[in-house]
Amino acid sequence: MIREKIIIEDIAITLERKNIKNMYLRVLPPNGEVKVSAPLFLSDEDISNFIKSRKEWILKKQELILKNGISAPLKYKNGEKHEIWGKTYALQLIKNTTTKRVLVDEERNVIYLPVPPRSTIEKRKNILDEHYRAELKHALPEALDKCCKIVGKTPTDIKVRKMKNWGNCNQNGVITLNLNLAKKRPICLEYVLIHELCHLIEFNHGKKFKKLMDKFCPNWKEIKKELNE
Ligand SMILES: [Zn+2]
Repeated sequence: MIREKIIIEDIAITLERKNIKNMYLRVLPPNGEVKVSAPLFLSDEDISNFIKSRKEWILKKQELILKNGISAPLKYKNGEKHEIWGKTYALQLIKNTTTKRVLVDEERNVIYLPVPPRSTIEKRKNILDEHYRAELKHALPEALDKCCKIVGKTPTDIKVRKMKNWGNCNQNGVITLNLNLAKKRPICLEYVLIHELCHLIEFNHGKKFKKLMDKFCPNWKEIKKELNE
């Protein structure tokens, strides 16, 4: 494979020539980088004409990516940045190991992820997700105790799940938490707990509910914003 950087009509392009039959054009998050894969036999002129013909599409796609702040999908590879409790770590895969446990080096800011050989992205994600689940379950008793004292309510049960929302409280008083809360600062977990515990007083998100939040978690609006970034 031959890789080079070219500029066509003010668009910076990473061009890869390889043994393929068709030309491929991609605009990638997070910066809108343009990547073109071209067959070895294609002339520079053909490539240039192709890119010129797609210029408008490229610019539109770049604008969309930057406007929506679309981030690159995680690949769970070495050096990739991941968060635990609001702190950033670099991922380090360990292969051919007997250990099944995720190890975290707090001094060097490294997460050691034990993975089977030829593991898929999904498999690696699951291993790290299970670590987040364990982190959250470990932190829960103390945080829950604190928040129950603040709100004056106790859930009937508490669960940790992969879910879309950060938390949920059902009519039976069961609170469910998103395991991704272990990625965020601990204050975010407390905020979600207080929010869900307030549902044991007010089931909807009306005026009364907001008053409770103001009382029990005065800076809840800022924390909510941080959570949804
Ligand atoms: Zn709610």
